[in-house]
Amino acid sequence: MKIILDFLFPIRCLGCGKNKTHCCEKCFQKIPRFPKASTLTSLIAGAPFVENSLLAKLIHYFKYDGIRDIGPRLTDLLPPLQFLPKSVLIPVPLHWRRKNIRGFNQSAVLAHEISKKTGAQVCDFLERHQYTQPQIELPRQKRLTNLHGAFSIKNKFQQLDPAITYFLVDDVSTTGTTIAECKKILFRHGAKDIRGLVIARTEASTV
Ligand SMILES: [Zn+2]
Repeated sequence: MKIILDFLFPIRCLGCGKNKTHCCEKCFQKIPRFPKASTLTSLIAGAPFVENSLLAKLIHYFKYDGIRDIGPRLTDLLPPLQFLPKSVLIPVPLHWRRKNIRGFNQSAVLAHEISKKTGAQVCDFLERHQYTQPQIELPRQKRLTNLHGAFSIKNKFQQLDPAITYFLVDDVSTTGTTIAECKKILFRHGAKDIRGLVIARTEASTV
């Protein structure tokens, strides 16, 4: 089956068209990255997000075309992460309906890959109970209000450990609203140290 699919839809580098890879090594190395970030900042991001760039295309293919294999590669854009011993990764949740359509939660794929590299644990504390429009499709003003009340903690009696550093994992941060909304919920349940960890962020992200 895979052979037939590869024949009908050959995999090509989104940067240069070279065969058999979604992004060849040469193009991947050319993706601009942020200078080395400290794990103590409130939002760790690997690369600047620029519309229509190779990175934007890779993220789009990963997220909207369901090409899961791109996820692990994207985490290579992150700076070397040295977490404190008590660190937990929390993927930003997808609404179950969107997850069913896509087949996976892209943030969870990223979180598990980061976990493999760093040893930090992944905990699925949050859920999304509102089916909202994707942030990327909305104008800035709407992005700020689109997510009000969209998230909650899975077990509402759950208390989080204030001694743990929680990293909210997502693919892109644009306005910072998604991370901010998730942070609110975690604070409400006892977490004290919460940061964001994203593959890419735009200039306007205000986390
Ligand atoms: Zn290439």
